[in-house]
Amino acid sequence: MNDVDSIIVPRWVVPVVPRGQVLEHHAVVVDKGDIVDILPADTVTQRYTATTAYHRPDHILMPGLINAHTHAAMALFRGLADDLPLMEWLTGHIWPAETRWVSPEFVRDGTRLAIGEMLLSGTTCFNDMYFFPDTTAEVAEEMGMRAVVGLIVIDAPTAWADNPADYMHKGLAVYDRYKDSSLITTALAPHAPYTVSDAPLSDVRMYADELDIPIHIHLHETAIEVENAKQTTGVRPLARLDQLGLVNARLVAVHMTQLLEEEISRLAEVGAHVVHCPTSNLKLASGLCPAQQLLDHGVNVALGTDSAASNNTLDMFAEIRHAALLGKITTMNPNSVDAITALEMATINGAKALGLEARVGSLEIGKAADMIALDMNQVSLSPMYQPLSHLVYATERAQVSDVWVGGRAVVEHYQLQNADVARMRTMAQEWGQRIQHT
Ligand SMILES: [Zn+2]
Repeated sequence: MNDVDSIIVPRWVVPVVPRGQVLEHHAVVVDKGDIVDILPADTVTQRYTATTAYHRPDHILMPGLINAHTHAAMALFRGLADDLPLMEWLTGHIWPAETRWVSPEFVRDGTRLAIGEMLLSGTTCFNDMYFFPDTTAEVAEEMGMRAVVGLIVIDAPTAWADNPADYMHKGLAVYDRYKDSSLITTALAPHAPYTVSDAPLSDVRMYADELDIPIHIHLHETAIEVENAKQTTGVRPLARLDQLGLVNARLVAVHMTQLLEEEISRLAEVGAHVVHCPTSNLKLASGLCPAQQLLDHGVNVALGTDSAASNNTLDMFAEIRHAALLGKITTMNPNSVDAITALEMATINGAKALGLEARVGSLEIGKAADMIALDMNQVSLSPMYQPLSHLVYATERAQVSDVWVGGRAVVEHYQLQNADVARMRTMAQEWGQRIQHT
């Protein structure tokens, strides 16, 4: 008999790896934060005694979702400006609001709100890009959420830093502070090719190599971005990044709605990663990421919500569904971005993009117990022929009943364990009133 921390007994286990597998009547055994066994439920009590047992008889247990691109704190700008094209939305609304409001307090409260929403929606890890990344990391640790905190670099001065060297200096201090954390890792996060000049981009490349961390950047988000770059620099943004040495296996390129065949081949050749943000691209009419074409060439494609200011939720189940549906209309082929692929994009592919595939992204022995349970006993989910298809085409985030990060239950029976939701709502409403009346 082995004493362990917890045993979860769901009706189905969807481990994501091996591909397409669905286990019925199996138990997942967790000890010291890691998955130590996955075995038939009727044999588990003969081998393990657990401090806590979770019986979830109508549930699917699967890996926690990985939101591979967001700006968590911007949850406080949810619904501030809608129905506008990207540059008008950014320059006329979002950037002025950020200039007026962004502070450590704003980032603390906004990130709390975002993490509350993400955990309740089944997301256990997020890849963030925002000002005051030190605060983002503190809040994520405090709430028990896994995060890849972006060390933002941008030419323009903000409340966080004065110039590119200052952004880098402050970012490196955040890297140092969290380099041994079990929940927090970091990435270099130059905002976009049109907001960061060549010298700081070269520095980003140098530090990413030295620290062995990803480079998280918005890239080829719209046709206008690519056209403007051709006029000002003579080349497309991806080509400029390639000249500067940033197009390599560390690159986590977000959006990528504008891609030539040879650019897709180049991304595949170097092992770069793409983050598809379907809802944000739809809402800003930015364009369509050719996800299936990228996958066919061997490019790893993950999924992200982008911020709640351009989405307007942090609902990864919505992204999964949108990615699967858009994948089909982009190619006019209903086989494109099938259910299994869409689930991989939201889990293991996200882990690969963020350099975390040895720890998360699938339910496998030896990995961290980042897991979610969904109650499938719903009118809207009956009958269920194929759990994998239901997870993509019929399930909503409201069915997420329990969430574990590193084996710790952070949502139990639909309730956040480490935060007061009523206080969170009041805090967000107070910020909303202040922001609206200025
Ligand atoms: Zn973004």
